[in-house]
Amino acid sequence: MNPFSEFDAQVQTDVPLSTITWSHLGGPAQYLIAPQTVDALTGVVKRAREEQLPIRILGSGSNLLVHDRGVPGVVLRLTAPVFTEANTQGNRLKAAGGMKLGDLISFAVGKGLSGLESLVGIPGTVGGALRGNTGARNGDIGQWTKQATVMTTSGEIIVHSKEDLVFSYRKSSLDELVILSAEFHLSEEDPQELTRRLQKQWIVTKASQPVADEGLCLIFKDPPGMDAAMLIEQAQLKGTRVGEVEVSDRHANFFLFHENASFEDTLRLIELVTQQVSDRSGIELEVQPTIW
Ligand SMILES: Cc1cc2nc3c(=O)[nH]c(=O)nc-3n(C[C@H](O)[C@H](O)[C@H](O)COP(=O)(O)OP(=O)(O)OC[C@H]3O[C@@H](n4cnc5c(N)ncnc54)[C@H](O)[C@@H]3O)c2cc1C
Repeated sequence: MNPFSEFDAQVQTDVPLSTITWSHLGGPAQYLIAPQTVDALTGVVKRAREEQLPIRILGSGSNLLVHDRGVPGVVLRLTAPVFTEANTQGNRLKAAGGMKLGDLISFAVGKGLSGLESLVGIPGTVGGALRGNTGARNGDIGQWTKQATVMTTSGEIIVHSKEDLVFSYRKSSLDELVILSAEFHLSEEDPQELTRRLQKQWIVTKASQPVADEGLCLIFKDPPGMDAAMLIEQAQLKGTRVGEVEVSDRHANFFLFHENASFEDTLRLIELVTQQVSDRSGIELEVQPTIW
């Protein structure tokens, strides 16, 4: 019996997460649920707790490695309109947690609000970006975030103001179950000039990413003051392969996932790269994606 049938939510069972994740890895989610309202989300979260089912949030799946055996319990997706909207008031922009980062940047630029455009070309959602303080060379999302609204595992909604929020390299203090929305304080600028900058930045970012019809995932955090891709390249690991998983030739901090790539092969390639970089440079690389 489906314990979530009474809620205003799209409920699917045994959906392979490989159809959603950027790596194309991942076995089935027992329940994949897209609530259509905040009340429905609260209901699903509370019911999962009553039923003692584990609950996870999936954004775009671009910073996630999921085991081939899949995940028990509930995987939530914030894809309904109420979780993907944004609005502005002066230089303040409020965006919902399920909004695509690219849509947020286009929206901000269209309103003549600058700051977030340095993140153009990075896949994912607002919630996923806030969870891991996603960033590029000239900034990360945390530096513009002034408020965040979250939901806890008991369904309680909490607003964190700037003083409660701590962001550091690929880390944030936002560790509650769901990031519902955030407010960004941006600078006002001429939209045409901003659009030109956005286009330039997009070209630079895209040129640095591998082009892959198959799966891909950014694998390691940059160690302080260093570049993980450079360390992997110096260890001559570009193109190294375990099974159907390969270190990208174009940017060594990406793994490419060919057809039939497995989670186990991914872990073995991570281990191999970590070991060889450590042997050569003495530096221990740290994995960036969340592992389910
Ligand atoms: C081609 C490519 C380029 C990339 N470039 C960069 C880069 O330049 N810089 C960088 O920092 N990263 C980069 N990444 C990694 C990734 O895009 C970012 O980390 C992105 O912000 C993840 O967002 P997501 O929605 O895909 O999160 P997911 O992968 O879906 O989830 C990641 C984590 O966030 C949690 N989460 C997601 N949404 C929510 C929510 N609403 N509430 C609570 N928790 C949530 C998940 O539970 C999970 O723990 C890149 C990845 C790829 C594939």
